Amino acid sequence: MSECIFCRIAAGEIPAQKLYEDEECLAFRDIEPVAPTHLLVIPIEHIQSQAHAMEEHEALLGHLMRVAAEVASKSGLTNGFRVVANTGQDGGQTVNHLHLHVLGGRQMHWPPG
Ligand code: AMP
Repeated sequence: MSECIFCRIAAGEIPAQKLYEDEECLAFRDIEPVAPTHLLVIPIEHIQSQAHAMEEHEALLGHLMRVAAEVASKSGLTNGFRVVANTGQDGGQTVNHLHLHVLGGRQMHWPPG
């Protein structure tokens, strides 16, 4: 059994509120939302972070971005949203399985914390 929590969600071993799933990726609700809508888009394949993605993952990374926009739209984020990939320690990554945060439902601010 994998020790990676997102691999376990992808395998159906841990429940999640899934919004989208295909052979390459999965989108589900973040368990500790920081915005009215807070979704995560993950590849099924375990890739530690964006910094670990290889040339062979280019199409997959593009797919994740497109699915992020699709689930944002389906969630009613017609006024915009933010996509974030926290990467590594300084990036604030806490789960070491590449994921896109899709945040919306309120005004986002810049610079981020
Ligand atoms: P990051 O800090 O960028 O690595 O993001 C990890 C995110 O995963 C956090 O926003 C957590 O709230 C979220 N998270 C952790 N465990 C779960 C879970 N079991 N189901 C849904 N989201 C989770």
